[in-house]
Amino acid sequence: MSLSPEEALKVMEGAQSIAIAGHVNPDGDAIGSALALRSLLRALGKDAVVLLGQDSAAPELYRFLPEYEFVRASEYSGVPDLFIVVDASTAKRLGTSERILGVARDTLVIDHHSNYEGFANHYIGDATAPAAATVIWRIIKASGIKPTLAMATYCYVGIMTDTGRFAFRNTNASAFADATEMIGIGVDPARMSELVYENRTLSALRLEALMIDRIQFSGGGSVAYSFILEDDLRALGLERDATEQLPATLRAIKGVEVAALFRDEGTKGIHASLRSRNTFNVGAFASRFGGGGHAGAAGLTLKQPLDEVISLVVSGLASELSARLSAGT
Ligand code: AMP
Ligand code: MN
Ligand code: MN
Repeated sequence: MSLSPEEALKVMEGAQSIAIAGHVNPDGDAIGSALALRSLLRALGKDAVVLLGQDSAAPELYRFLPEYEFVRASEYSGVPDLFIVVDASTAKRLGTSERILGVARDTLVIDHHSNYEGFANHYIGDATAPAAATVIWRIIKASGIKPTLAMATYCYVGIMTDTGRFAFRNTNASAFADATEMIGIGVDPARMSELVYENRTLSALRLEALMIDRIQFSGGGSVAYSFILEDDLRALGLERDATEQLPATLRAIKGVEVAALFRDEGTKGIHASLRSRNTFNVGAFASRFGGGGHAGAAGLTLKQPLDEVISLVVSGLASELSARLSAGT
């Protein structure tokens, strides 16, 4: 059962020191949600920090955001009154921040995934929200604090990135209504889009070219897939976040219903980023492999050789898609 924004604020009011964490390899929503919440909590007079669940740096892509500062969870020795998890529905997505669940006096999850695994004391979530930042925005508005330009910018970036610039199937009226409010506060939508999507290095484009060169199809063209190796990133001097927007390129191919990008993450295994166009639920598919996500965007990680993971996932996707087609659903 989800708390209301007012009830979530009550949980926060009872705490003074608060640590916030999003999922590992944070995207625009995890980062925007966490930083927006930190701004709100500081405005409410709390001591709030954002933890990073990994020892690698926060993605450069979002460095334009105000006060882009994080504390590595592995170096955080505090015992917070409250630990707030944003944009994650399972504890194992927290990386090195997961440890804080065991030391914090109280815990709260603020999320928009559909498969919340009940790992915290309190929960506020909405699976129809396009981003966790949507839920954060509701909490900000319920707080009585006047939203600042920084808060609006953080939440705008969360919603813009999780909806693929207001285009993916999770885009709904609330995304536009919230964006309208944020623009009213001073957010410049063209600038935000430019900073995130039109700020690519030639190396990032070369990585995309490599991925395009390796595209293969299955299921009569309904599944498109490709892969990126650790060495590809190393050779091009890129970090993992350079791959964030690549699955959307695969899904944009005519006739493709589901796209899969496999990324070799060395000792962590092979991560598959899945994207679907219409009705196929990649979140449900990924959860059968221990992963998760949303209907239109999901991921899973398997510790098996790349070719085995590709054939397992691609054959699974192709057979489920063809079963659905023959069943007429
Ligand atoms: P990605 O695979 O990184 O492109 O992520 C797509 C969506 O799936 C995001 O909402 C992620 O939070 C979610 N996701 C990715 N990997 C996992 C996983 N192993 N378990 C649960 N959710 C995941
Ligand atoms: Mn996310
Ligand atoms: Mn999200």
